[in-house]
Amino acid sequence: MAHLLIIEDDDLLRDGLSDLLRQTGHTVHSSADGLAAQTVLNEQAIDAVLLDLGLPKLDGLSLLRWIRQRFESLPVMILTARAGVEDRVEGLSEGADDYLTKPFNNAELSARVQALLRRSRLPAFGTGASAPPDATPGLQIDSQLPRAWVNGQATDLTQREWELLNLLHQRLNQVVSREDVAAAWQNDSAEPAASNALEVYIHRLRRKLSGSGLNIRNVRGLGYMLEPL
Ligand code: CA
Repeated sequence: MAHLLIIEDDDLLRDGLSDLLRQTGHTVHSSADGLAAQTVLNEQAIDAVLLDLGLPKLDGLSLLRWIRQRFESLPVMILTARAGVEDRVEGLSEGADDYLTKPFNNAELSARVQALLRRSRLPAFGTGASAPPDATPGLQIDSQLPRAWVNGQATDLTQREWELLNLLHQRLNQVVSREDVAAAWQNDSAEPAASNALEVYIHRLRRKLSGSGLNIRNVRGLGYMLEPL
């Protein structure tokens, strides 16, 4: 069983797809436009997306690009009209995993959704523990020395800034708690860690990351998260 999101502005088709995929045991969310879909994707853990390209408010290809920036390994199947060969090609080149041509038959649809989910569970598609090397094109961190390249510019970091940035980057899009930072800093006596030190380092890193396309978000009560802007 998986959590699926159907993004389709045709009410009949969307309801039909939802019913069918619910019958095969999946939990189905649905959106009738691109902006509503963004909200669902930000708030729910979705395993795979079925995406119509012609959508109001935010079109399917723009939404697909947004999905690829934010949820790199989320499987996406495009729903296209039979005549839409160019759409299909463009969708695949923008990172869709598969496409299905409307009208489709029910057996084909459920088989293709199963295949999509199966592929996404292979290790190569998994999110893993650390960010893939190309997940943050505006930021590369030196693995040996305390420095990073922000937008191609070499930027010196203090030891603590470097350790903190590594920790945040390894858990891109996940919350890093104060306890996690404390544990990572425990054996580092190069600089004293004052009670408000973490805020100070976060503030300095934010300034140094300016132009990288990344932001360190304060997740109230939980910690900090490095995420694409
Ligand atoms: Ca449509």
